[in-house]
Amino acid sequence: MKRSVRLRTAAVSLAMTAGLLALPVQAHAAASDGLTRAQAQTLIDEFEARPVPPTSPAARLQKRLAEDGDPADVIDPADYRCDTNTPVRNWLADSRADWTASDQSAGDLFLQVVLLDSVLFPDAHSKDFGPHGEFTKAVNKSFTGLGRFWDIDPSRISVVAMHSDVLRDPAGIARVFEEAFGVEESAALQFGEALATIADQDKFDHGDHPYFTFNAFAINGLDLGDGRSIPPEIIMGDGVLQGFKAVGLDDVAPASIVAHEYGHHVQYQRDLFDSPLTGPEASRRTELMADSFAGYYLTHVRGAHLGWNRVRDFQKVFFQLGDCSFAAASHHGTPEQRLHAAQYGFTLAELAFPRGQVMPTTKFAAKFERVLPLLVAPNA
Ligand SMILES: [Zn+2]
Repeated sequence: MKRSVRLRTAAVSLAMTAGLLALPVQAHAAASDGLTRAQAQTLIDEFEARPVPPTSPAARLQKRLAEDGDPADVIDPADYRCDTNTPVRNWLADSRADWTASDQSAGDLFLQVVLLDSVLFPDAHSKDFGPHGEFTKAVNKSFTGLGRFWDIDPSRISVVAMHSDVLRDPAGIARVFEEAFGVEESAALQFGEALATIADQDKFDHGDHPYFTFNAFAINGLDLGDGRSIPPEIIMGDGVLQGFKAVGLDDVAPASIVAHEYGHHVQYQRDLFDSPLTGPEASRRTELMADSFAGYYLTHVRGAHLGWNRVRDFQKVFFQLGDCSFAAASHHGTPEQRLHAAQYGFTLAELAFPRGQVMPTTKFAAKFERVLPLLVAPNA
């Protein structure tokens, strides 16, 4: 099946569920003097109870994501050792230890607004990577290196930053709701005010909380249905880069994450997404393959060519992002499986012969398919 839209997450899975994306379709009374938090929360609750217009860009994206899910294809959790008690995931959990259930629900809505804003309005934000631009050089260098390394067309792909500054801008949030969900202007502005009011609290770092951008994506373009489209791109969130800095892996994390997302673009251009697998097994296959592509690039003499000590570090990056969501359509593989997939790419790079030769992507994928059953063999 030909797929025009794909979102792939490097880190945590994005829960693009109908409930979270349920949106307002009618105007509310104007609040000219700003909203109290209670008023803002009431508006958000009302908005969340409403359906998403079926032809909106957000619904297109949501539909595409939902197609991947099949509750019948659940991986048996009893087959695997799995523990997501990893430093970066613990760091993210600690950062929101004081959140209530209602805060969490607001946070989940914020991260979707932030993603849609980055996808729809990339020119409205800084092109730097990281909260203070501290990862700009590393991300751009990796992206350029990957373009030279793999045998796909890099000119069709761009890399854009995902910041969360829109959460301090009611008009910016409103624009997302107008464009992404077809919300009428005055209602969108009210929703923008409500969201900005809720975001402006210490526990949300006044809109800058890393949870809102703790992710990275590869999108194979998106037809917006109104004559406009989004090009194939990689989206890099500030939060996931911040998280790996906090756990001491910032020297390898930007390159590792860009390399994983670039691996998805290899899959798009080489038609590698389709397989007999469905649901979580299908997602696990493509994610582990992207980890292997990344491991190969990161260590190959013509790629990032990381030294031994940093090899161990980049393997930790993939390990720490594993998940135990065996029933989720976005399952990325357990920490151990992701580690082994990255190690497999590393091993192929070590064995490269002649030493400077880069394997064609289709040959690499064929090798990966043969090793996949070993990578996902039950180990409980
Ligand atoms: Zn991925």
